[in-house]
Amino acid sequence: MTIAIYPGSFDPITNGHLDVVLRASRIFEKVIVGVYDTPEKKLMFSPQERVELAKAAVKDIVNVEVQLYCGLTVDFAQKVGAQVMVRGLRASADFEFEFDMAMMTNKLSPELEMVCFMASPQYQFLSSSLLKEVARLGGKIDDWVAASVAFAVKEKVKNLKQY
Ligand code: ADP
Repeated sequence: MTIAIYPGSFDPITNGHLDVVLRASRIFEKVIVGVYDTPEKKLMFSPQERVELAKAAVKDIVNVEVQLYCGLTVDFAQKVGAQVMVRGLRASADFEFEFDMAMMTNKLSPELEMVCFMASPQYQFLSSSLLKEVARLGGKIDDWVAASVAFAVKEKVKNLKQY
């Protein structure tokens, strides 16, 4: 059975991420969305919140599960028995970073294969950080995330404004 991990910050999970998850789920027997607990980024959601939002968003895809992990992604892959690491590639933003990541992953764990999915045209410009920025400024985000995620982002923004 081919198991794939899809690691990332998922702060929060967007429809661009979900598109990659869905496509990966049609190819691999099991896809594990790996929510990395402490990325070096300014985060809107706690690790547990990011996991819960991701779980709700993928609940209808039977061969997909969500797990929180810390430490090296290659160690997480080994722990769950994954042979493949899935990533998404947007046209201009991601190639160099993902290429370096693939090279480093190969050094650390030669048997773990990295498979990149080209972002679908409608999600090329979509990132969690841009989404959060739009929400903070009062823009509409409902087309880009699951309803439960849109609700959670709006609640966060509302609470932030109280200070
Ligand atoms: P990271 O913190 O590792 O960049 P993210 O949670 O932002 O993690 O993204 C996880 C993966 O999903 C990365 O490979 C990223 O390139 C990809 N990704 C992010 N947004 C999109 C999108 N709109 N379409 C396709 N892939 C995406």
